[in-house]
Amino acid sequence: MASNLLSMRRERFAFLGLGSNIEDRLDHLQAGVDGLDADPRIRVDAVSSVYETEPVGGPEQGPFLNVAVRVATSHPPRRLLRACQAVEAKLGRVRTFRWGPRTIDVDILLYDDRTVRRRRLQIPHPRLVERAFALIPLIEVAPGQVLPDGRSLPAALAKLAPVEGVTMVGTQVRLPSEVRS
Ligand code: ADP
Ligand code: MG
Repeated sequence: MASNLLSMRRERFAFLGLGSNIEDRLDHLQAGVDGLDADPRIRVDAVSSVYETEPVGGPEQGPFLNVAVRVATSHPPRRLLRACQAVEAKLGRVRTFRWGPRTIDVDILLYDDRTVRRRRLQIPHPRLVERAFALIPLIEVAPGQVLPDGRSLPAALAKLAPVEGVTMVGTQVRLPSEVRS
C-alpha cells in the first residue's frame, strides 16, 4: 500500500534532522523516525549514528541526542514540513519559547538539490551550515551530497572546525524496514 501511494508521484530524496532533549531522548528519536515512516508518502531509508550534543543558543537546557535520516518522499517540500510538524505534535512537542527544550524537533535539512525561500520554510535549513550537530550526522546519510550552491558538506563542516560538543554515542535508532523484515 505504502509503495503504491509513493509511486503515484515522483519520489525525491530529502534529509531530515531530528533532535530531542527531554527524556527518554532515544525513545523520542525512535518514535520520530517511526512516525515519519508511518506516513504513506515517506519512507525512511537511512539513519545516522546517534550524537549527543551540547545545546547551542536558547536558554540553559540539557544536552540533545541528534540523528539525521534520509527519506524517499513524494511530498513536495511544504507538505513534507507539515508531515514533520505532525510528528512533532504527535510526540507532544509543546512550543514554549524559541530554541527551548523539546521532546522532538524535526527539521528539513535538504530537499533534493532544491532551494526554497519562503517565510515558513527555508531549504537548505537556514542554520545547517552553522550547526556541526546537524552537519555531522547529515554527512553520514548523505555522502557526496552537495549544497545547492555546489559546496560539499565536509567543506561546510570544515569551516566550523575545531568542533566540540558533538559526541557519537553507542546506541542506535532502528530503521523501520529492519523492524518489518
Ligand atoms: P528550530 O528548529 O530552529 O529549533 P523550530 O523547530 O521551533 O525551531 O522551528 C521554527 C520554525 O522554523 C517553524 O515554524 C518552521 O516554519 C520554520 N522553518 C523554516 N525552515 C525550516 C526547515 N527547513 N525545517 C523545519 N522548519 C523550518
Ligand atoms: Mg525545528
